[in-house]
Amino acid sequence: MEQKISKVIELLENEFGVPHRRPAEEPLDTLIRTILSQNTTDTNSGRAYHSLRRRFPTWEDVLGAEPAQIAAAIRVGGLAEQKAVRIKALLGWIKENYGQLSLKPICDMETEEVISAFCQLKGVGLKTISVVLCFACGRDILPVDTHVVRICRRLGLVPEESSAEKTHRIMNRLLPPGKAYSFHLNLLKFGRTICRARNSRCQICPVQQYCVYVVKKRVVKCRRG
Ligand code: SF4
Repeated sequence: MEQKISKVIELLENEFGVPHRRPAEEPLDTLIRTILSQNTTDTNSGRAYHSLRRRFPTWEDVLGAEPAQIAAAIRVGGLAEQKAVRIKALLGWIKENYGQLSLKPICDMETEEVISAFCQLKGVGLKTISVVLCFACGRDILPVDTHVVRICRRLGLVPEESSAEKTHRIMNRLLPPGKAYSFHLNLLKFGRTICRARNSRCQICPVQQYCVYVVKKRVVKCRRG
């Protein structure tokens, strides 16, 4: 299985390139950005984040604001009331636990320690905290979203019915060192352009020879034919 994963990573890098890490931002910025990206498009979550930062230049300002004011600033990103309450509660928890509105200390903590501390908070799941660890702390961890789950299942890298959490555990155990960032970004590109949830473009797929889903689809067609 490790060999198959390495081959898939290589083929996706041939197709989409090897992504280079951007300079890391404050992990708290990444956390809020990721919360705002839940259940909306990249464009709208980006707008919501910039609107929030314009209206409240510091995280202290956000913490001191009423949820309704925060919601008004992030309206364009959807689920504004729910996200506003969660963001304010999260900032309060961070200040209480880290003594400051910064999450730089988590970059020095063990991955599992960070995951278990943050996954108990409303609005922060395994994917969200993995994004923070991967993008802001440079940690070699694969954030697992719906694209990653779907593609890993189709390629038979995880069992067919695997949840996001199970996919996270399996893939993070099997990935070759140093490849989580590249694999994550290329799976997103692949999932948006070729291996889409509906109408996947299998005829131009660079990893078709590793796909168990496409084989099953052919067998079903043959039986019907
Ligand atoms: S062959 Fe089709 S279903 Fe399989 S990985 Fe490629 S695009 Fe996805």
